[in-house]
Amino acid sequence: MSAVPQYITRSSVSDTAEYFRYPDEVREQFIATDDIEFRDGSRVTSLEVWDYLTQVGPVKYPNLYDNSSLYTGRLSHDVTFAFNLKNAYLSMTMHERMTKAKAQGRPIVFVQGGQSVDPYYAAGAVALRPASTGSWARGQREGLTRNQDELESRSDKQKAYNAISFEVCNSAGYEHIQEGNVPADMVAPYTALRCSDVSYGTEAHRHGPRAKEVKLLLVDYPLDHQRDKEWAIRYFADNLHRLTRSIDEQTGRKTTDDDLAREIKLHNEGRRLAIEIADLWWSADLAPTNGRDRRSLFLLGGMETHGDPVASLSLLREARRDIEKRVRQGHRTEGVLDNAARLFVCGSCVFPNDLRTEEAGGIIVGNDNHWSDITTLVNEDGDPYYELARAVLSYPYEQPLKERAGWTVDQIRKSRTDGVLFLYKWGCNTQSAIARLLVDEIKAQTGIPTIIIEDDMTRTQTEQLQNRVNSFIEMVS
Ligand code: SF4
Repeated sequence: MSAVPQYITRSSVSDTAEYFRYPDEVREQFIATDDIEFRDGSRVTSLEVWDYLTQVGPVKYPNLYDNSSLYTGRLSHDVTFAFNLKNAYLSMTMHERMTKAKAQGRPIVFVQGGQSVDPYYAAGAVALRPASTGSWARGQREGLTRNQDELESRSDKQKAYNAISFEVCNSAGYEHIQEGNVPADMVAPYTALRCSDVSYGTEAHRHGPRAKEVKLLLVDYPLDHQRDKEWAIRYFADNLHRLTRSIDEQTGRKTTDDDLAREIKLHNEGRRLAIEIADLWWSADLAPTNGRDRRSLFLLGGMETHGDPVASLSLLREARRDIEKRVRQGHRTEGVLDNAARLFVCGSCVFPNDLRTEEAGGIIVGNDNHWSDITTLVNEDGDPYYELARAVLSYPYEQPLKERAGWTVDQIRKSRTDGVLFLYKWGCNTQSAIARLLVDEIKAQTGIPTIIIEDDMTRTQTEQLQNRVNSFIEMVS
């Protein structure tokens, strides 16, 4: 089915604003797709999702529908891909869904991104990584234009820089804990070194305005060949026990080994589905989705995105079938060239604009951050704390350079990558330090062209970043 996205102009909001609208001709096909199930046993039908996206969303979040400038267009235009619409629905309803979870007695825990969230959910909590924390906070502000939304976010960031350190790159969402924008009960990240902002944020939390009401617990992550040391695995398993006990103090219940084992099984299903989807996606001659949907789809396997692993699984199960069908039928994705240059992104938290990248003749086919934990399955036999600790300490992204590079090269080969971008933010201490070493190793092993680009978080450099990416695409095409 082919359908062209439609646009409407709202002169009341801005003289030039052009808004995306889901086209009516895809409605029938969409409302015949699966319901979304949620952790609390509730579900929404596709008809309800459709009504939300076409009636509620444009009024509540006009900024998301704004397509009027080069760097807007936050909603994917692949309107025949059911996953895309449901993913947008889960993002837009973050505030109402998380408020409901909190009212149901689920502790809200701030965690580090790119790590498994199995133990938090096993103990009955909701684990919110920085981006999800931001999504909840932003969802509370309704009716904002794109500019108003940007200004509000910048203002939050500025407060965080003042309160934490000028050295942080984007404060990792911590500003919303600091400012009380989301009702967090705990700050309890794994202390993996990947994100220096999390370290700054947790340190600032000790003396911050919410220190008394929001409990701090560090899930201490041993470093340096941690994967191969028995004591390190046991030590981290003990830390995971501390974590679930600490959440138990909030809920008044006791998390059992069976609770964790069940949760690991559920999260393993998500990880497996994401791996299968990636294998299908990478095997196709023509990219079966655009780059933006690919990223959302692959990363959903980490169950970090929407604060509800059961809902994430609902989307993944359906998307697995749809991607298989698209690959079988040789689906051609609107806006993506048949011979697009295939790019792999290394490093945390920076992505070029997918639309502009695709216009320039490229497509992003993979990235290492977050994918590292998703591709690490947890052994379902034996002591669940020990097995989870063993898996977490073996995440490729957290390993010494040679091992991280070796795993990245595997992903690059599987995804048939033409060029590698290492992107990092100013202030991202670990990733900026490792960038040169990693790309040199990748280049030595594959001969594929690589480039390193530093970005800042203020969004004043988006054109600079995109110019360099587009030139790189020309080079590898
Ligand atoms: S760019 Fe680096 S330091 Fe900044 S939030 Fe991301 S991982 Fe953390």
